[in-house]
Amino acid sequence: MLKPADFFQCQKCGECCKGYGGVFVNKQEIKHISRYLNMDAESFLTDYCQWSGGRPLIRTSESGYCVFWDKVCTIHPVKPRMCKIWPFIESILVDPTNWDVIRSVCPGVCGNVRSEDLTECVRQVLTQYERDCHC
Ligand code: SF4
Ligand code: SF4
Repeated sequence: MLKPADFFQCQKCGECCKGYGGVFVNKQEIKHISRYLNMDAESFLTDYCQWSGGRPLIRTSESGYCVFWDKVCTIHPVKPRMCKIWPFIESILVDPTNWDVIRSVCPGVCGNVRSEDLTECVRQVLTQYERDCHC
């Protein structure tokens, strides 16, 4: 059986951490990240988040990257779900051609992938996340 690593090897280029992000954080993520940063949740929201549609998302710094990008993700062990599952996101299950869109911005993903194999890997990643996540 093919594994996610057969389709994706992160090049650590930071491209996915660049730009005005859609990296929203939920209550559990706020709790985990603020604890990791040794600060309270309110300070984390004030210092590192902005609001969009009534929900907090991680801010982009003046460099154009996520505030937590510094050649690596500085909150890697507690980074939000979106960052943990990337690039195996749900929208691929809706339309596998979304993989091509991801491929255009992420040099770590392979092309010429069969849709069935890809969707199976997305399911594997999402299932593993639910198993590991203590939210
Ligand atoms: S864009 Fe892709 S290869 Fe680059 S850091 Fe993000 S996930 Fe890794
Ligand atoms: S939290 Fe980490 S992985 Fe996610 S966008 Fe920010 S720097 Fe990138």
